[in-house]
Amino acid sequence: MKCYLCAKKGKDTDAVAVCIVCGMGVCMDHAIREATPIWKGDYPARLEKDIENVMRILCQPCHEALKENW
Ligand SMILES: [Zn+2]
Ligand SMILES: [Zn+2]
Repeated sequence: MKCYLCAKKGKDTDAVAVCIVCGMGVCMDHAIREATPIWKGDYPARLEKDIENVMRILCQPCHEALKENW
């Protein structure tokens, strides 16, 4: 899988992670990895109990969109 954000810029970078929200591949530069609080929003993501409160990978657009709701 290739990094979606790089692909949009015409670069061909292997993805190292997958965004948990939208599922697109992201490279090291575009992946945002952080511990997030319990999910409360209705956003399409439906998280399983066992991955709550662990480090999650988000892509930049999802991070931007979601951090405003935390
Ligand atoms: Zn990238
Ligand atoms: Zn995403």
